[in-house]
Amino acid sequence: MTYTKHWANNEKLNDTEKQKLETDGLDIFKEIPRYAEEGFSSIPKERWPLFKWAGLYLQKPREDGYFMMRVCVPSGVLNYEQATTLAGIARDYGRDIFDVTTRQAIQFHWLRIGEIPDIFRRLERVGLSTAGACGDITRNIVGNPLAGIDPNELIDTRSIVKEVFDHFQHNKDFSNLPRKYKMSISANVHNASHAEINCVAFTPAVKEIDGKTVPGFHLKVGGGLSSRPYLAQELDLFIQPERVKDVAVAVTTIFRDYGYRQKRTRARLKFLMADWGPEKFREKLLEYTGPLPSRGESRLEEWNAGYFYGVHPQKQKGLSYIGFNVPIGRMTSEEVFELARISKEYGNGEIRTCNSQNVIIPNIPDEKVEDLLKENVFRRISVHPRHFIAYSVSCTGIEYCNLALVETKERMRRIAEYLDEEIALDVPVRIHMVGCPNSCGQRQIADIGLQGIKMKSKEKQGLVDAFEIYVGGTLDHGGKFNQKLKGKVDGEHLAPVLRELLAFFKEEKVAGESFYRF
Ligand code: SF4
Repeated sequence: MTYTKHWANNEKLNDTEKQKLETDGLDIFKEIPRYAEEGFSSIPKERWPLFKWAGLYLQKPREDGYFMMRVCVPSGVLNYEQATTLAGIARDYGRDIFDVTTRQAIQFHWLRIGEIPDIFRRLERVGLSTAGACGDITRNIVGNPLAGIDPNELIDTRSIVKEVFDHFQHNKDFSNLPRKYKMSISANVHNASHAEINCVAFTPAVKEIDGKTVPGFHLKVGGGLSSRPYLAQELDLFIQPERVKDVAVAVTTIFRDYGYRQKRTRARLKFLMADWGPEKFREKLLEYTGPLPSRGESRLEEWNAGYFYGVHPQKQKGLSYIGFNVPIGRMTSEEVFELARISKEYGNGEIRTCNSQNVIIPNIPDEKVEDLLKENVFRRISVHPRHFIAYSVSCTGIEYCNLALVETKERMRRIAEYLDEEIALDVPVRIHMVGCPNSCGQRQIADIGLQGIKMKSKEKQGLVDAFEIYVGGTLDHGGKFNQKLKGKVDGEHLAPVLRELLAFFKEEKVAGESFYRF
């Protein structure tokens, strides 16, 4: 340990903080083989929270001993061996469920403690890891899923993301942060990595330095969702590619050493940033990094919300990338094996995951595109999905998540299919469903956000699933969170209520008008 935990003597630390002072979260990796040998009942209950540092959560109900596992996929780039290894884990251990998350990671369910060491071995063989996928630590770094092939990127960010990710992974200098910590590094001009909802985000920019136009990044700090959402604020800085890691380390060090550790609900970096403001944060950051140039010129254009459907020319002449829909982010292992086979047979074996919970197959020679699209798997994993299923996102929900109040994934899929039968629109409407205020499904930035709650049944006998409806979220023009409509709707009536809402929108809008308006 190379730093002093100056907060250790604070008597008001919350219980999680006290536990983190006794055990570093990453040490759970050393304990897992023993628990795997001795069985679930050998794990003391007080150790359960530490499993998050290994990317593991206990599913609902915890006592049954099934784990959900999240695997980091920095910038969403998977090679053939990685994709087939992940598909194999879903097939052999995860009841065939393969989920793409809103941070480009992969999630499995139904894992038993005895299976975890073999899963870790498989992941390690192909250079993947779960370390930092959950817990009070640097999470999966999101980025441009088109990095390296993108005609709309300023810089190929793959090596930068790798350098930063490798620096933080398994790094005990940064494994005891006040709370979860989310980073995005992207040079895609359409903000494919949702910069403003990250704790720290590097976005594309240029600056005149010594008479030359130099590509680099601007820096946004302090974004985050959950029940008190904040949009990240830009600091007056320009960062050249070779300084990204230093700046990422500086921001993370500030969070570690100055972030709040008394109440879990006020521990995210966004609260420190809200109190300090961008000027004070910048001054502190420069103490760590030394002088950095001031802001240049942003290269961010219209937000694409992380969607890439269809066939598109790459930066490399003669090659295309193809964006496909994964309904509600969930596939079977067989579908993933098929995507990997197809990607290898027609392209270079890569698959990219998007934070819209979808996938891209890159590097397809133009002359092979037509044949590729005839493959059977693309009947469901569609290149031209129907209108509402195409833009529906859902968190894990009550099926597996201990914090969930309502069921989400299947419900969102059913509602999207219903709306596709009922209503036709000339613009996409992004609908995000979440099972609680934590907002893993990023409902605040949706055109229509649906947040699960419980309410009394009409007969006043017990509680039923219900939803609050929010409208008008976007990350265009720096971002705006959606606003709550009055009242709530019980789960059974949600689909027809949404149909009415969308019918009203259709009637009132002018041709081509999108759902939000500034
Ligand atoms: Fe669970 Fe809530 Fe996150 Fe959904 S938003 S996965 S219910 S914590």
